[in-house]
Amino acid sequence: MKTLTVSIVTPDGPVYESDVEMVSAKAQSGELGILPGHIPMVAPLQIGAVRLKKGGNTELVAVSGGFLEVRPDKVTILAQAAEKASDIDVERAKAAKERAERRLQAKQDDIDFKRAELALKRAMNRINVYEGRI
Ligand code: ATP
Repeated sequence: MKTLTVSIVTPDGPVYESDVEMVSAKAQSGELGILPGHIPMVAPLQIGAVRLKKGGNTELVAVSGGFLEVRPDKVTILAQAAEKASDIDVERAKAAKERAERRLQAKQDDIDFKRAELALKRAMNRINVYEGRI
């Protein structure tokens, strides 16, 4: 089976590196599925799960936006934050979700609203990845 090397990197350091059979990620333009030999490209990502198919298993990494760069034998994801499912503190994510929901209900200015909306998306993404619900 052909593979490609995937690296997920954040400002705090590398989060994931492995050879996989397929990568799926949520680009701004929609879901992308990348197999070995894919044409080179760069795409901005949404807050979402990256799925890594490997030997009949699928691993999940929660990614908080960023960019994906594809070369024929390598995919690099540069993200502001990224966590493997096993590294997610689900209680922290649930607390962040509740905090963001409270801020969205309190009528404040647009900037606060946008920030709370993004915080809510990050928290829900982490909860979904932790629970394997992607
Ligand atoms: P919080 O309000 O809980 O800090 P956040 O969405 O504002 O959440 P980020 O700014 O996206 O947090 O991330 C800051 C750092 O904390 C990053 O290194 C990220 O990987 C880590 N992180 C955030 N939430 C979690 C979590 N639930 N489990 C594990 N690591 C987390």
